[in-house]
Amino acid sequence: MDDAAAQSEKRIRGLSVSYGIGIGNVAFYQDESRPIQRTKIRSNDVKSEIERFRRAVQESVAELSDLVAGKDADPGETINDIFSLQLLILEQSSFTANVEALITSEHLNSEWALKTVSDESILKQSAVTDPHLSEKRLDIEDVRDRLHSALKGVKNERSISYDGKVVFARELKPSAMLELSKNKPAAVITERGGWTSHASILARELRMPMVSGIRNLSNFASEGTEVIVDGDSGTIIIGAAGNTLETYSSRLKTSSYQEELPALPASSQTVDGHQIIIRANVDIPEAYEQARRFGAEGIGLFRSESLISRPGRIPSEDAQVKAYREIADVAGDAGVRIRTFDISIDRLNGNETQTEANPSLGLRSIRLSLDEQVHFRIQIRAILRAASDRKIDILLPMVSGVSEILQTKEVIKDEVSRLKSAGISIGEPRLGAMIEVPSGVLMANEIVRMVDFIALGTNDLVQYLLAVDRDNDSVAEWYQTLHPAVIRAISTVLSAGAAADKKVIICGEMAGSPFYAPVLIGLGARELSMNINSISQIRRLVSSITLVQTETLISKISLCETSDETESTLRSFYADHWSDIFPSGSIALNTANQIKN
Ligand code: PEP
Ligand code: MG
Repeated sequence: MDDAAAQSEKRIRGLSVSYGIGIGNVAFYQDESRPIQRTKIRSNDVKSEIERFRRAVQESVAELSDLVAGKDADPGETINDIFSLQLLILEQSSFTANVEALITSEHLNSEWALKTVSDESILKQSAVTDPHLSEKRLDIEDVRDRLHSALKGVKNERSISYDGKVVFARELKPSAMLELSKNKPAAVITERGGWTSHASILARELRMPMVSGIRNLSNFASEGTEVIVDGDSGTIIIGAAGNTLETYSSRLKTSSYQEELPALPASSQTVDGHQIIIRANVDIPEAYEQARRFGAEGIGLFRSESLISRPGRIPSEDAQVKAYREIADVAGDAGVRIRTFDISIDRLNGNETQTEANPSLGLRSIRLSLDEQVHFRIQIRAILRAASDRKIDILLPMVSGVSEILQTKEVIKDEVSRLKSAGISIGEPRLGAMIEVPSGVLMANEIVRMVDFIALGTNDLVQYLLAVDRDNDSVAEWYQTLHPAVIRAISTVLSAGAAADKKVIICGEMAGSPFYAPVLIGLGARELSMNINSISQIRRLVSSITLVQTETLISKISLCETSDETESTLRSFYADHWSDIFPSGSIALNTANQIKN
């Protein structure tokens, strides 16, 4: 490239979180979860806005009917009473007519008209002194939230398509990423997000190039500007000059994710004969077929919250049974571990405008499930039912000690007996706990005795142990996977598992990185569960190393006092012993793509 060309194009460096090249025009992501806006619509658009609102009502009625219809499987009368009352609000009260009247008379968008009508009804209801009647306020709120969620799905004609575009978002939630992927964008750029953010994990599963940490893109590009996204180096290029576009267009043709590698032995063993079981982290059932071809033995982690398409849209018991059967069917005899909802309160109730000040430390994961037991019991029943003739285990996220397990066991016991007395056939899923917070590590011996297996979530373990936000790229430097404290914590949990003769599966992103996997194996890990696109690489690595070598590696790094020291010890060990596996210069952190074929 000549100097003039080099000067005219702008290169911005961010964080590579998913490989590959994407070229396309910028589309700014319309965040559907932002606070509700008041918008005036044109008189010509009133009719279509009313139709849009009616479709949202129909969708909500269908969902509520589904919840009520699930009553045969749901012995809890209260749940049915609640949903029946909410159906009445939608179908027989003046509630929806009042919203339509406001859209017509004031030319308001559905969202604002709905907000106005529900605010008024809630106010009236709050004035009622009878506590039983004033409870209805909560039902109105629930109906309002359900309608709002439905409205987000019922897009009007003006909504944009992201097909072939480079989508720019401040931050993306996993559900938004899944939704977005249906549009097949060329690449994604975000302001916030780290390697272990759920959106980044999904981008890798979907093989969608993604760069995070790009601030204020609108200062350099506007809607429609052509951008090159280099997910391999974490760079974006605006106003490509000289032969830049040509170079990247030809790179575009060769995917940076490796395709299936030449045949590997059926089971995954080290050179000295130790078996390492490789499982897949799968959220999309169809993706498991590829994982199986790569050599995965079952699904080590199914993040069940991927079934929540939009905040507040918790699938009914029957819908969950169907989804769990589907995922268990693809996993077959090797089985699936279904993690119960790992979400925060705003995602459960659909009210994303009322987020907690500190959601990572808030009412979330297993604590939320135990706090909002209506949903937890629905989920437990769904898993028990789906497990009746399929291989399914239950996994609890963010366990901090034994009390969550004791409480969960009570819930399971109750639901087992309710289902049994209703004559519904159920299975006997094994129970596992995710260890991903420091107290869980310190209580590992006690926890492990109470469960059938442990899943070590290194993504959160690093976050909580080092008090560093995994979603914030500005602190990516402090997110140190090789911090000696992290290595010690992993070792503690693996030893607790070994002492109690219970399986410990490592299922954070660390398990799928060739750079970290030898450390995990040396520390005693024998089961790794990972992103589909890491499986071939890790299997190839395992079949090229010996367990003895990994143990020598651990004896060296256990002397290190900083993450930098650990990293350079690893690099020199790899260069000295495995230069054929890690060609020189290719040892990068967090890459699933660096092993020689
Ligand atoms: C983890 O924390 O390592 C994990 C596997 O769970 P998630 O990434 O869904 O938090
Ligand atoms: Mg986690």
